[in-house]
Amino acid sequence: MPSKCIALFSGGLDSIIACHLLKQQGIEVIALHFVLPFDHGIKSKLDIIISFANQLGARLIIQQDGEDFTDMLKNPSFGFGKHANPCIDCRIRRLKKTKEIMSAEGAQFIATGEVVGQRPMSQRRDSLNIIEKHAGLLGYLLRPLSAGLLKPTVAEQERLVNRELLLSIQGRGRKEQLAYAARFGLASFPPAGGCLLTKESAAAKVVDLKASCPDFTFSDIQLLSIGRHFRIMSTTRFIVARDEPENSLLEKFILPGDYRFDMVGALGPVGLGRGIAEDEESIQFCCRILARYCKARCDSHASVSVTHNNRSVVYSITPASPADCDSRKI
Ligand code: SF4
Repeated sequence: MPSKCIALFSGGLDSIIACHLLKQQGIEVIALHFVLPFDHGIKSKLDIIISFANQLGARLIIQQDGEDFTDMLKNPSFGFGKHANPCIDCRIRRLKKTKEIMSAEGAQFIATGEVVGQRPMSQRRDSLNIIEKHAGLLGYLLRPLSAGLLKPTVAEQERLVNRELLLSIQGRGRKEQLAYAARFGLASFPPAGGCLLTKESAAAKVVDLKASCPDFTFSDIQLLSIGRHFRIMSTTRFIVARDEPENSLLEKFILPGDYRFDMVGALGPVGLGRGIAEDEESIQFCCRILARYCKARCDSHASVSVTHNNRSVVYSITPASPADCDSRKI
């Protein structure tokens, strides 16, 4: 019977090479793809992930990041990276889930596309050890791209994997990975994509959320990638959709207690107000911001419908100036 492993599978080049190296040895690889809470409307992305798994002949499992993401983002034990990315905690959390899947699938080990020294936070040599230890996977976590530089894992010691056929890549360069992909004709996502939390714009939103709403929920995290965000009062966040697909998406996240804003008599974005303490000043300011982003913008007058707890009121307002919007933008 061939050896079996679960491989974390982002669709990035490193994860694809890790799977390919193992498949080349005849190992059964189950590719495990995690979907971040703020990755919405990504059917097309998932279709690509499926095609990447197919090119490798790997069975694919798709796992949605759940509510536990919220607690992690509130208080990561190992802190944040350059922006709002709690990468070490995130890897540990995901690997704990992967360990459960490994048991359920009867796999013998877990593989990742991690490369020693490639990422400043989660792929330093000491971080790799911390992650492995805290995920309860000592000896069971194989990094095929850097295996030659690391202590042999149980799978290598027991000859489930031929260590000699694995790689010894380290550092931030991608020359060797690109050469490998070209040699075997492997497609992957471009490196620039990736997780929203590693981006400066998201960091500002997370910092704002933690400061103004320490009890933020999973829904608040899901909203991080949607629309333009504004801080109106200390507790009020206002989100304006940027286009038609975001209008539909934002509508799905309107919870009981939230305020919904729609232009009246003109095409425009949907707005979502959260944490509004029923004060007229905040509501009208949200209306004014919404009108600023209306397609048929009128600088002197606009009407906005505000719906809260199944009751709608129409406000007649003057759109906010660009400077007013900028001053509240997160
Ligand atoms: S980049 Fe994002 S998804 Fe990846 S480990 Fe860091 S926080 Fe998690």
